[in-house]
Amino acid sequence: MKLQTAVPEAPALRTRGGRVELVQLCKTYGGNTAVDSIDLRIEPGEFLTLLGPSGSGKTTTLNMIVGFTEPTSGSVELNGRDISRMPPNKRDFGMVFQNYALFPHMTVAQNVAFPLRERKVPAGEITRRVGEALDLVDLAGMDGRRPHELSGGQQQRVALARAVVFSPSVLLLDEPLSALDRKLRQSLQREIKRLHDELGLTFVFVTHDQDEAMTLSDRIAIFNEGRIVALGTPTDLYHRPPTTFVARFLGESNVFDGFVVRPERMAVVVDSASVPPGANTAPATVTDVSFYGTYSRIELAFGDDSIGCAVLPVGTPSTVEPGTAVIACWRPEDQVPVSTEKGTTS
Ligand code: ADP
Ligand code: MG
Repeated sequence: MKLQTAVPEAPALRTRGGRVELVQLCKTYGGNTAVDSIDLRIEPGEFLTLLGPSGSGKTTTLNMIVGFTEPTSGSVELNGRDISRMPPNKRDFGMVFQNYALFPHMTVAQNVAFPLRERKVPAGEITRRVGEALDLVDLAGMDGRRPHELSGGQQQRVALARAVVFSPSVLLLDEPLSALDRKLRQSLQREIKRLHDELGLTFVFVTHDQDEAMTLSDRIAIFNEGRIVALGTPTDLYHRPPTTFVARFLGESNVFDGFVVRPERMAVVVDSASVPPGANTAPATVTDVSFYGTYSRIELAFGDDSIGCAVLPVGTPSTVEPGTAVIACWRPEDQVPVSTEKGTTS
């Protein structure tokens, strides 16, 4: 019997992702340095996330890539070509903002068609492409609505459709999900990931949410005080954080002198006879126990006033409650050496 496999048709909006390179990129405002000598190469088709606390320079970096902000020094390159002085509309990058930025008086279809009209695309092709873009974000049939007739999640889907409708090679997203509630965020995270996988363009995504960064990204660039202090895949950065800053910023950590232990590697026992052979230990007091269904999280205060935690999978017998004196223990191979320097780039 002959096996028949369906070959899915690639969407026409699919493009080849651009390679973006930032070379010694700087931006200063008066005497303040917003972005401090950033070097970063974003590969074609990559999903790269800029993650960092508020004010660390993420938006300024994104705005220099898209062309809204002129660098003080350094350059932005696309596929090896310096585009630092090129106006934003010539760069042809798609952009999605936190606040949707839709035109309120236009319908969904008119909003999505806008970039194509600006580019003087023929009417027939506009209709076809808008239909395709709306299908892509699951908004078929909503063409005639206006933004105020849509939910926040639907408005952000329109913004996504508008950003990809002209087949850009790079899509830049600045905290696109931060205004949405948790459930909606998670469903749009999956949409954004699917869009990335289907379209093949390069995504540069900004967030201050570590979980969002971990679930979406091929690589994460961690920002602090205008610099990239770490760059790597989510698993690399989680399991081998180069600095205490990264260990604290990405996931939870028990931070000791020169090393960290992740909470799922930490066990908690109440007497020294129960410490597994060969384990390292630290005395601690339980300050909080929270049940999360699949796991319990035990918050710990160590003798030196530092705070840490252990995560126990459901079913782990544990009788500890707040106030219990315990011994935190872990295998020596589960402690990860870290530098205490903030500015170290891995
Ligand atoms: P993030 O997006 O990580 O929150 P930003 O890139 O918005 O950070 O800001 C980085 C720093 O640059 C902050 O200290 C901010 O106050 C400053 N900054 C950003 N834009 C301007 C501006 N237009 N004028 C003056 N300072 C600015
Ligand atoms: Mg910002």
